[in-house]
Amino acid sequence: MTTLNLKALLPAMSMAVVLTTTAIAQDIPNIPSEVTLFKNVMVFDGVNDGLNDVDVLVVKNKIHKIAEGIPESGTWEVQVQTGGSKRLPDPVGGIDGYSFTIQTERGIETKEVEVNVIDGGGRTLMPGLIDSHVHVNMYKDGTIPGLQDTTWEEIGARSAAFAQEMLAMGFTTVRDMCGAHGGLRAVIDEGSLPGPRIYSSGACLSQTGGHGDWGIAGQRKNESNLERLEITRLVDGPAEVLHGARRNFALGANYLKIMVSGGVTSIKDPIYQSAFTDAEIAAAVEVAGDMDSYVAMHVFMDSDLSRALDLGVKVVDHGLTITEPTMQKLVEKGAFFSPNLTALAPEALEHPMHQDPTFPPTAKFLWLRKNSEQLFDLVRKYKPKMVFDSDYVLLTGVPYRQSMDFTKAFMAREFGNLWALQMMTSNGGELAALTGRGNPYPEGKLGVIEEGAYADILIVDGNPLEDITAIGAVDTWFDAEPRGQDVPSIRVIMKDGKFYKNTLN
Ligand SMILES: [Zn+2]
Repeated sequence: MTTLNLKALLPAMSMAVVLTTTAIAQDIPNIPSEVTLFKNVMVFDGVNDGLNDVDVLVVKNKIHKIAEGIPESGTWEVQVQTGGSKRLPDPVGGIDGYSFTIQTERGIETKEVEVNVIDGGGRTLMPGLIDSHVHVNMYKDGTIPGLQDTTWEEIGARSAAFAQEMLAMGFTTVRDMCGAHGGLRAVIDEGSLPGPRIYSSGACLSQTGGHGDWGIAGQRKNESNLERLEITRLVDGPAEVLHGARRNFALGANYLKIMVSGGVTSIKDPIYQSAFTDAEIAAAVEVAGDMDSYVAMHVFMDSDLSRALDLGVKVVDHGLTITEPTMQKLVEKGAFFSPNLTALAPEALEHPMHQDPTFPPTAKFLWLRKNSEQLFDLVRKYKPKMVFDSDYVLLTGVPYRQSMDFTKAFMAREFGNLWALQMMTSNGGELAALTGRGNPYPEGKLGVIEEGAYADILIVDGNPLEDITAIGAVDTWFDAEPRGQDVPSIRVIMKDGKFYKNTLN
């Protein structure tokens, strides 16, 4: 078993820009400096069933052109502002590589660039994966009280390890659901750390004694370590919700997460707890609306789910006891459903955490399983907008990888490969865009292979529409063969137009 270091895979393909004029590169805005042409690939676009035999041209960090037989050299006029392009007649004698004519303040200038041609060998090219419920700050074995005994330094380093782990699994975008603000995103986006794009909720907002109240017995509000680190925030009353929500956005959050009923892993809150008053929920919705974004909720109880939808919450995380009328409402309102369904898999009973029946979370977990037997049928009947959502906490290394690989397989087992893949790609991209004008990645779509979308791309062995193991899925959980960080069937990982892995050839 080997563990691949993503940094060692990074060197990849930084493309030299060959200037054909005497202009200095820094003087000219937006010169395409990296051009990659994927040929001999079958494309799954993240939305439609079936694969298309087309080439994909990436310029800088966007998918620039998708067509049959894109030439390996030629002259293209690039509209830098819009990303559009038009092929120009080849100059006499032709050129080796691509040249781009660019409108600058000094007029039209022509640049030649080398093209990095990738022969996919007939494999599947598809969007990078999106996990819409992760916890970057909780990549540590143990229990939530254990997180109270840690430092910002350890949490930061663990977040970095988590980011590399996720990217190595093919996840080019993740949505953090408690505690990430803008810091990890900034480090990754500046290129200092390999990792996925990060959407972040900021500190999760919980009432005292709610699912986000992780202080040990005797600690008061603002006294616990995870509150000081602003991973969770206790807010009681609309005024505190307003302040906490606004502070989250000020620290770099892209949306809000509120705890609207009790949870499994937390100790103080019974699962049936109805959390936050309507006025408190409305305060969070108002702040998110002011930022052109949305509120997501942790919820298990149907009645709380229903009232929060009425108050304008747009994303339902968990929601396992949902009833048919509430599912109808959820679909009518166009809300997203992120239910973390592996909690209901038969294999979940083998989870190491749930082997001790006296452990309080185990009792809650078993109660939930018993009260959510209707869920799969409701999902199949109403087809809500679902996203892929792993939600593993307090798990690292091999058991974490086994859980992630199983989650990919379980969603395909229950809902078919196409829908599972849509959850992991285009649906996740649609949810990411719900962050509105505060979207940290506003220039293109995520989770799709289409012109103008961000160049977040995988090439995998085989066709995942027919065989989900192509993306590293494994249909057993804790019995699965342990693996290192690398997923061998994922041969190419490109994010934002840069290669992080290429094991073709
Ligand atoms: Zn979670």
